[in-house]
Amino acid sequence: MADKQKISCSYCSGPAVYLDRVRQIHLCKAHLMGQVEDEVRRYLSSVELPEIIGVAFSGGKDSTALLKAFCQIKHDIPCRFVALTVDEGIEGYRQDTIRAAKEICQALEVEHHIIRFSDLFGSTLDQLVAGSDRNACTICGILRRRALEVLAREQGIRMIATGHNLDDHAQTTLMNAISGDIKKVFTGHGPSAWYAKRIKPFARVSEREVTLYALLNGLFRDLPECPYAVTSLRGEVRTLLYRYERDHPGSMLHAATCEEQFRERFGSEFVREPYTTCTVCGWPGSGEICQVCMVLRKAPSDHDSS
Ligand code: SF4
Repeated sequence: MADKQKISCSYCSGPAVYLDRVRQIHLCKAHLMGQVEDEVRRYLSSVELPEIIGVAFSGGKDSTALLKAFCQIKHDIPCRFVALTVDEGIEGYRQDTIRAAKEICQALEVEHHIIRFSDLFGSTLDQLVAGSDRNACTICGILRRRALEVLAREQGIRMIATGHNLDDHAQTTLMNAISGDIKKVFTGHGPSAWYAKRIKPFARVSEREVTLYALLNGLFRDLPECPYAVTSLRGEVRTLLYRYERDHPGSMLHAATCEEQFRERFGSEFVREPYTTCTVCGWPGSGEICQVCMVLRKAPSDHDSS
């Protein structure tokens, strides 16, 4: 059998592990990792950093890669960081990912804090959706955002970094376009001093690069999928965008930046709604009762009795 010709990195003689199809370059392990870390460094240098950043850390590959990148560049950033994990209470899924999250934080020597739906809201996600046709992901998203915010406040954290990558952004842009809901793009709420600022240091790093970064650092784990993750519009959009990216490299980047550019140019022409104060919990939200309290009000009344 003929030897396969080895492809070298475009920057050194090392064996290539990744083809950047947009820039038409091959990268070895060291240069791929350097590229990811440079991008996180560049992103962080573009924002005003507080004393401490909370890294939203689910234990999955994206947030694991982000935490590792933070560790790698910690001497270049003028703040410290801690990992923040939300345990939604999903049987057969969360136990493994929480264990993985704890082990990774121990290995990386990162301070780690966990908050549980059951402690904060009195119910797990499983209990909240049991016996009803409520959409688990919608409820999970609303409550997780609040839980993360509560945990951040407890730790005096005013900035939260999430592992959203370029592919996530491209998918969201296309989903917003498909839904035709211009409010999602241009309106929503104005800034609030109450909520921690969200940052996305992987906004220009593709999912393939993030996955490879986690793999090459020996941090990728084969974890179970959430049982509530069913085929969704995002899944369909994801498949579509992968096809476009394969046939037209750069499609993801164009889709992701397109919405940003629209916002920059036309965002000021749209009025942002001010937050109202929830009459139940006192947190800022929309309407008289915030989404979190609405979700909890509709919780099945018998979930505690089992
Ligand atoms: Fe939550 Fe849905 Fe993600 Fe599961 S798939 S963790 S329910 S958002």
